[in-house]
Amino acid sequence: EVVVLRLGHRPGRDDRMTTHIGLTARALGADRALLVGDASQSETTVRDITTRFGGPFDVEVVDSYRDIIRDWAGTVVHLTMYGERVQDVEEDIRAAHAEGPVLVVVGAEKVPFEVYDYADFNVGVTNQPHSEVAALSVFLDRLFEGRELEREWEDAEREVIPMETGKRVEEVE
Ligand code: SAM
Repeated sequence: EVVVLRLGHRPGRDDRMTTHIGLTARALGADRALLVGDASQSETTVRDITTRFGGPFDVEVVDSYRDIIRDWAGTVVHLTMYGERVQDVEEDIRAAHAEGPVLVVVGAEKVPFEVYDYADFNVGVTNQPHSEVAALSVFLDRLFEGRELEREWEDAEREVIPMETGKRVEEVE
């Protein structure tokens, strides 16, 4: 199981980013997203997309992150520009994933130091400042080694038919 934990959501300001964290987690192979704080708008959007385009994928708003990280019965990966290079630790993280669930933590504003401390891996997708959505995408693709792109979706109401030009969406029977 791979679960994405989104910290530090600021209502209003972070709504789109938090929604994109949920949508990206879903699209790129995670099983679940936990959104800390007042992020019910993002939760609703991610749920709607899952209803329409399929799953399984769960999204949930939680009050606090501390117990989730502390009690996580698996590996905690915190994505941060200050961390170890993803290309240096991805193999160890894949090995850990074969043994148990992985919690992938991404921040918004400044992430409290205790998160760095609790994490089993602090991982940088480059050591340059960029975006939690971008970091999450590259990380998940490295974790799954591209297999997430082949995923089949269950219980979708509609499906995009890939095409060279134009847009085609079909209702799923
Ligand atoms: N400066 C903030 C700090 O010191 O915690 C981070 C702000 S950044 C806009 C928001 C989030 O994007 C971070 O918490 C981290 O999860 C992610 N992020 C940004 N750059 C990253 C990188 N190079 N590698 C991994 N994650 C990154």
